[in-house]
Amino acid sequence: ANRDVTLHILKTFGIHMSKKLGQNFLIDEQVVQAIIQAANIQAGDAVLEIGPGIGTLTQGLAHSGAQVTAVEIDRQLVSVLAKTLEGCENVRIVHGDILRVNISQEMGTESYKVVANLPYYITTPIIMGLLEQRLPVELLVTMVQKEVAQRMVALPGTKDYGALSVAVQYYTEPEIMFIVPPRSFVPAPAVESAVIRCTVRTQPPVMVQSEKLFFQIVKAAFSQRRKTLFNALKTTGRPPEEIKEALLAAGIDGARRGETLSLEEFAVITNYWSK
Ligand code: SAM
Repeated sequence: ANRDVTLHILKTFGIHMSKKLGQNFLIDEQVVQAIIQAANIQAGDAVLEIGPGIGTLTQGLAHSGAQVTAVEIDRQLVSVLAKTLEGCENVRIVHGDILRVNISQEMGTESYKVVANLPYYITTPIIMGLLEQRLPVELLVTMVQKEVAQRMVALPGTKDYGALSVAVQYYTEPEIMFIVPPRSFVPAPAVESAVIRCTVRTQPPVMVQSEKLFFQIVKAAFSQRRKTLFNALKTTGRPPEEIKEALLAAGIDGARRGETLSLEEFAVITNYWSK
């Protein structure tokens, strides 16, 4: 992980980095090691890496003794990886789009960790896809835009709190591990980054009768931030009387804004409507 080697590899293989594919390669060995440490990688750990690029983080994971499956969409980079990871017997490269690959088939049923410097244009679909599929993922340690990391850990009533916060906190316990400056990448992205560790929960923090309804309510509550909760919940298609009843039973003031509700309060409304 250093600038000169990275640029040399890209030049040798005639690679032009694609902005569209979110290609910002890590050139900071300290960050690579800090990610591996945050994921507490032990020899023999099964790891899914998303977007290995030229293999900078992959190599670090391989040297820690992990069994790595790395999914890369860019065919040109797959050829580079064959060279840069030559001799790493514990790495398997899969050419494909992480949003389309059959992850269960690639990873099997034993639990594993997800470690990645994510392509920022699809951070949310990747993370939500992994969580919603209920894959046997124990831990996700990912580099994301700092703003996205802040949204994931945000608490009710703060400006960053939204549907993503609720969803990530429903499935995991997220913590921001450290901030990474643009100069740690080539090319340097326009924004600061953060490494976030999401420990997947074995039990959700709130019990809901229907997850589908829970997330519908969450989505509705955050759909129009300037509206009161009562008005926002109308977008669920429920009659106003039912909305009033549920809020009254839950002891929640309908004049509040959706973004002030805790996971527990969303769960109370869900369970009232599930009756
Ligand atoms: N891991 C490398 C590093 O840290 O230097 C590269 C990280 S770069 C931010 C993101 C990588 O994800 C790129 O290699 C890009 O080609 C790849 N990528 C983008 N979209 C993808 C997708 N849908 N599925 C799999 N890989 C993808």
